[in-house]
Amino acid sequence: MDSLWKDTAAAAYRDELELRAYTSRLLGQDKTLVLHGGGNTSVKIKEKNIFGEAEQVLYVKGSGWDLETIAAAGFTPVRLEHTKKLAQLPELSDPEMINQLVTHQTRASAPVPSVEAILHAILPYSYVDHTHANAIIAITNTVDGEARIREIYGNTVVVIPYVMPGFDLAKLCAERFAAEAGPQTIGMVLLNHGIFSFGENAKESYERMIMLVGRAEDYLKRHNAWDVAPSSVTAAHGMQLAHTQAKLRADISRVAGFPVLVTRYADDKTLSFARRADVAVIAQQGPATPDHVIRTKRLPMLGRDVTAYVEDYKKYFHAHEPQARERKTMLDAAPRVVLDSELGLCAVGKSAKETNIVADIYEHTIDIILRATALGGYCALPAKDIFDVEYWDLEQAKLRKGGKPLLFSGEVALVTGAASGIGKACVESLLARGAAVVALDLDAKVSALTNSANFLGLQCDLTSEVQFKQALEQAVEKFGGMDMLVLNAGIFPGGCRIDSLKTDEWQKVMRINLDANLMLMRECHPFLKLAPRGGRVVVIGSKNVPAPGPGAAAYSASKAALNQLARVAALEWGADNIRINSLHPNAVFDTGLWTAEVLASRAKHYGLTVDEYKKNNVLKTEVSSRDVAELTAELCGPLFAKTTGAQIPVDGGNDRVI
Ligand code: ZN
Repeated sequence: MDSLWKDTAAAAYRDELELRAYTSRLLGQDKTLVLHGGGNTSVKIKEKNIFGEAEQVLYVKGSGWDLETIAAAGFTPVRLEHTKKLAQLPELSDPEMINQLVTHQTRASAPVPSVEAILHAILPYSYVDHTHANAIIAITNTVDGEARIREIYGNTVVVIPYVMPGFDLAKLCAERFAAEAGPQTIGMVLLNHGIFSFGENAKESYERMIMLVGRAEDYLKRHNAWDVAPSSVTAAHGMQLAHTQAKLRADISRVAGFPVLVTRYADDKTLSFARRADVAVIAQQGPATPDHVIRTKRLPMLGRDVTAYVEDYKKYFHAHEPQARERKTMLDAAPRVVLDSELGLCAVGKSAKETNIVADIYEHTIDIILRATALGGYCALPAKDIFDVEYWDLEQAKLRKGGKPLLFSGEVALVTGAASGIGKACVESLLARGAAVVALDLDAKVSALTNSANFLGLQCDLTSEVQFKQALEQAVEKFGGMDMLVLNAGIFPGGCRIDSLKTDEWQKVMRINLDANLMLMRECHPFLKLAPRGGRVVVIGSKNVPAPGPGAAAYSASKAALNQLARVAALEWGADNIRINSLHPNAVFDTGLWTAEVLASRAKHYGLTVDEYKKNNVLKTEVSSRDVAELTAELCGPLFAKTTGAQIPVDGGNDRVI
């Protein structure tokens, strides 16, 4: 393990707090040290208060900040003397601990300080760094972990047995420190939890962390417990596997009580782990460090028996809840990690950001379990300790910070013709409501519409069944299924009267506007049928369906046929709880269909200027892609839960339609 400290980079920071933020980010960059909000750091700085009096202030990581990206503003200043004194109390409840910390901040707008603030306060060093380093938790999660840690570090670190984070841990550390620490002390190991390092300046504390963790890594190497790279394995593929994954997602969503995404990772590492003969032992011990529990639950689900998983979770809850200090309400019983010999690793969450975090944590957990196993056996904390952290209000508060879930959180939408115009606007409207969106388009630029984790853009020719099926498989692998389908892709050829309309031109329009949509509906039906809240299809039709115009025979006929297809589907699929509704936009000019030439020619056809033509409707208003997209999204939502087979104009009012 190498130090990432750069003198040139450090020289740019003016004060101790900025250096504190800098080395915190160095720790955060290394995922083998901290993952997704794990770990915390602090610095003690002497400052003048408003009366000009000198005062020691503890700047400790604020909740909601991640070490990887933390800035000076992410550290909460708390009065040091008061915080230290709290550790002398015989007991302190969690709400009172937070109250004491928050009321002794010196900047009211700072975030709530880390629950480890008191622990940072009592450690008599300017800089304190804390990580959940993989190498440390691999070694401490073994039967003789403590002896191994003492063998590695001698008396240079204080070793603390596992105690739940918060006030009790701070108090225990204060006692042990008073008894055991000396000039030789440069760190502290919390068994089954993580490691601390200390220093008089940012560089010293950070580099001691690197050195201490490096010694644990060397120990694993000396004991042939480092290299756990998997052999290559054969992964399954194909539509059948996609259906298996979607069924799993439906089952998990049902027991969760809300729709979830299920992201599948089937690489050598996850597949070979899921296929190990001893997986039912090594993957059923518990998390590598307790705070992972709020992301991964205590145990992954092995295989696909969701009902059995839920029964086991209920038993775990009812076994430990009676010992809790105050009454607890059971969280949803759905798994967050699934290990399956065919699917590999599946991560469960309400958004792709969440599933990415879950997968990241579990992939590191696999390394930790395999190394501990090589060292003699992975042995996590007892279930009771994990329960206490899972049901700790201060941990649950981290998850609640996200606020109320968005309308389509945990749901998946597929939009065709998504690179521009109405399709692109639909992608934006659906993403804004929390959906994971798969965007397809012939134009390759669709893949780069946004860098949201909830977005997958794929170039796809919808007249190719092979290409579409590949895209569908990729979509299901990434998000787990499909809840909403927006059939938007279409072409609008320039005006051409029937007496000169060529057969191949007619057929081309039919292939894209009609035939491709039949194929999409057919292939998506098994997935829509599994949608936890029922499937929804929105067909972007056209005013030309109720009110065709001359010179657009192929377009009007294709959209009219698509309209009938949608109406029949509404009849056939109602029993599958799939709703299909059509929107008939008119005169939406910010789309790919409307080139300047087509616009000018249509305006001329009606004897209007381009501007008059744009607002040529009953309400004298212009209709935008966004107007159509917002209505598309709402059609998929609860307002239209009882509507299927409807056709709604979005045209500013058209006297021929009315
Ligand atoms: Zn920790």
